Amino acid sequence: MSCAPIKDNRNSLLMQASLKSKIALVGLNRDDLDTLLSELNEPSFRGQQLFGWLYRSRVNSFEDMGNIPTGLRKSFEEKYRIHPLKLIYVTGSTGESTRKFLFELQTGEKVESVLMKEGKRITVCISSQVGCAVDCDFCATASMGFQKNLSVGEIVDQFLQVSKESTAPITNVVFMGMGEPFLNYDRVISAADLMNDENGIKLGAKRITISTVGITPKINRYADEKHRYKLAISLNGSSQESRLQTMPITKKYPLNDLLTAIDHFSYQSRHPVTLEYVLMAGVTDSKEDAKKLMTLLSGRRCKLNVIPYNEIGGKYKRPENHVIDSFIAALDDAPFPVTVRWSKGTDIAAGCGQLAVQKS
Ligand code: SF4
Repeated sequence: MSCAPIKDNRNSLLMQASLKSKIALVGLNRDDLDTLLSELNEPSFRGQQLFGWLYRSRVNSFEDMGNIPTGLRKSFEEKYRIHPLKLIYVTGSTGESTRKFLFELQTGEKVESVLMKEGKRITVCISSQVGCAVDCDFCATASMGFQKNLSVGEIVDQFLQVSKESTAPITNVVFMGMGEPFLNYDRVISAADLMNDENGIKLGAKRITISTVGITPKINRYADEKHRYKLAISLNGSSQESRLQTMPITKKYPLNDLLTAIDHFSYQSRHPVTLEYVLMAGVTDSKEDAKKLMTLLSGRRCKLNVIPYNEIGGKYKRPENHVIDSFIAALDDAPFPVTVRWSKGTDIAAGCGQLAVQKS
């Protein structure tokens, strides 16, 4: 029996251990890279070069950084790694309209991202936390509980690695994966800024959507800071009582306060807010609900996006198609735009509210 396989295995374990201890470069912005390079006594133009390799060329290896001197590439190799995430599984094959990506963090936790194609629109849905503390009753992620906030690098790396697997350039990003983005506010904004940077990924601000369950102090802060990314808010109820049924967060941030924050955002940004409304059979899908929504939202600068529920095997069900149709018909005269999102990827549990991974 040969000893070779044991030696190889030990080497690869050692390599994995040292790789895990290395700091990842993805997630660092221009200023961070300039600081890192000045500590290595390198001229500042190297920062721009490194930024381009990471975010524009999206290389996977230091060897591919053609205009970086060999000695410097070697020092990078010793101290740093490029990606903070390891792609461990992809559900769905190349060319399919929806694919789900499972990543492992350096600390072992797992998160999911989803790639969706619809005509020329290629959207990646990314996670901002491992699990979630908000506990919406209809959501698979809630069952994981809250584990941790993702770093800027762990958020941006989802985009970078999914983009390498996509057959066409990604046109849109939505923060609608695992977690409540506004409970990881600073890192989510920094990640959006990195994706928007014109020297790197260069995704237009209006192609980045941050979706929140309605953390009103953060909506107000976001409005006051005048960020240009699109904002979507999960409404999921036509009154305080109906919202409370599925979203316990409504107790802490009541509907009236949320409506005031929505008005503040649209006033500050001069843009409508997108309100997401999940249709659950017998819970949010009556004509009465539709009428109440009309009253609640009339005069507000908003769009309503109705999402028939994606079942996760729990107590909530998707309404029959004729019920969905009558709900939409009841909103025919709404003075605000109404759209229906026929969620993609439900067959691979990649639809809205379906993302969840088991604790390892
Ligand atoms: S819907 Fe969003 S905020 Fe609510 S539990 Fe799920 S991931 Fe968290």
